[in-house]
Amino acid sequence: MDELEPGILRTTFAIPFGIDHVHCYLLRSSAGGWILVDTGLGARDPEARWQPVLAQLDAPVEAIVITHMHPDHVGGARDAAEVTGAPVLQGRADHEQCARAWGDRDPQRFLEHWTTHGMPSETVAGIAAESDALVRAVHWVEEPDRLLEAGDEVDGWRVEVLPGHADGHIALFKGGVMIAGDAILGGITPTIGLYPNSRPDPLGDYLGSLERIAELAPRVAYAGHREPIPDPAARAREIAQHHEERLERTEAALGPEPRSAYEVSLALFTDELSTTLRRFATAEALAHLERLVAVGRAGRAGAAYVQAADTI
Ligand SMILES: [Zn+2]
Repeated sequence: MDELEPGILRTTFAIPFGIDHVHCYLLRSSAGGWILVDTGLGARDPEARWQPVLAQLDAPVEAIVITHMHPDHVGGARDAAEVTGAPVLQGRADHEQCARAWGDRDPQRFLEHWTTHGMPSETVAGIAAESDALVRAVHWVEEPDRLLEAGDEVDGWRVEVLPGHADGHIALFKGGVMIAGDAILGGITPTIGLYPNSRPDPLGDYLGSLERIAELAPRVAYAGHREPIPDPAARAREIAQHHEERLERTEAALGPEPRSAYEVSLALFTDELSTTLRRFATAEALAHLERLVAVGRAGRAGAAYVQAADTI
């Protein structure tokens, strides 16, 4: 457990895929207890996972806040609630997406999404196997105790809704400190992908969220991965620039002949990638393609994409 500043602790869990760790934060409450933000992946043995964390605290966990519905953040929500008895608070829009992704799961529709966007069948088969394994590690809460919206307060922390990395991603903001989840990261950029059942233009959403972070200009952001971000407004502008460059590369990958999002992902991410990373790459290509379509810089050809008409 690391003390980042008075009343803000960080505990880190290892995760077996992607980024190899996730941070959860503990915020001192006005009643002298702790508010837990994010929960890592679901555990086979919740007591064994959480007791060592709770044993380091001088007071009980009074509330659990989830920043977003990705497995490494919401995955341990039910476990932590069972072990602590604390209520779970989640963004309203985030909980809706969470229920669609992990509750009303439609594996066929999920796989069709990738096939439609040009992914070869063996890669799609790999995704199917991986997502079956993943869903077992997502112990989300079907009925959170409180659903949060922009402007709500959690013990003096203001809720900011910062969509993009997830449709209803929330962050907490107080006194210049942002508990950011994956809305902003240092060293790496949050993945922005288009998935079935998600909002239609996640990159457009995300560029708006980056503007919001720049406008709030926190003193520091404590994020779900990597190190604290000392100048989040500058980092937000840097990430926006990264996406502008990626939009330009995406536009350059299009021609007069239709190209699928999968093909565009091969042009954007040229390394040989694992199934998981190729899925992220394809979702990321799709998010950039949809942004280009939204602003008239690309056109559609069925489920594929072409150069904008005036550039042909
Ligand atoms: Zn994460």
